[in-house]
Amino acid sequence: MTFRLREAEEVRRRLVADVAHELRTPLSIMQLKLENYQQAGQHVPPEMLLRIHDEVIRMSMLVDDLHVLSLAEAGRLSLDRKPLDLTVHLARIVDDLKFEAEENGLEFQLSTISRPLTVMVDARRITQVFFNLLTNAIRYTPHGGKITVEIEDRVIDRDAFYARVSVIDTGIGIPSEHLLHLFDRFYRVDEARSRHTGGTGLGLSIAHLFVRAHGGFIRVASQTDKGTVFTVYLPIGNDQEKVDNPDRIMSFQ
Ligand code: ADP
Repeated sequence: MTFRLREAEEVRRRLVADVAHELRTPLSIMQLKLENYQQAGQHVPPEMLLRIHDEVIRMSMLVDDLHVLSLAEAGRLSLDRKPLDLTVHLARIVDDLKFEAEENGLEFQLSTISRPLTVMVDARRITQVFFNLLTNAIRYTPHGGKITVEIEDRVIDRDAFYARVSVIDTGIGIPSEHLLHLFDRFYRVDEARSRHTGGTGLGLSIAHLFVRAHGGFIRVASQTDKGTVFTVYLPIGNDQEKVDNPDRIMSFQ
């Protein structure tokens, strides 16, 4: 009990420190810019207002992300679970992001089974998971690369059935020493690059906790300069159907 209280206090302390750190820099920059204009007695030019507005949007996204993240960490994330056909849903998400990928000179492909694959999930949360993984794939894959989304049905892992979705990119990859911390809040492999590309550093923590709230998990495999694969496992569990064919288990291990 004492240990858990101390752990909860440590999580709270780290969260406050992280938030203060993440908000301090953009806030001081905005403050400085506005003060300079005020002291010079000038109007703020429209392009500067636009830039400040972008920063405000980014900060408010950050605060929203932190809010859901703290709910998920505390196990209090509300899930509105309904049957969802992953095949159709992912086709829609890929379609929504296709333009952005193509603008970045990337080939974007969906490799899917041709029948419905129904999972009991909160569509909004699951959309955010794949949106986060796919926007990362777009962000961290240089011009000329390729992003593939692969959907597989009834994959068996440790005696349970899963729908498996892999987001495969041919991007910059992640050095192995970073893989262990990748799902930590505000963890960035390359601080400068990630900030420049507009990431909040919370995308993977959110994806991980949302998938975990659905009883699933995410795996990652990566090779520097070759690419990264994030694999999302979502249970399609039907307990009676638990594995009784050992050959099948082996073939999926
Ligand atoms: P960010 O908002 O910084 O992208 P994330 O939590 O989504 O934060 O990702 C954490 C870090 O993991 C990123 O800063 C980046 O360094 C690395 N990363 C995530 N996805 C990929 C990917 N597909 N390829 C290479 N690096 C990635």
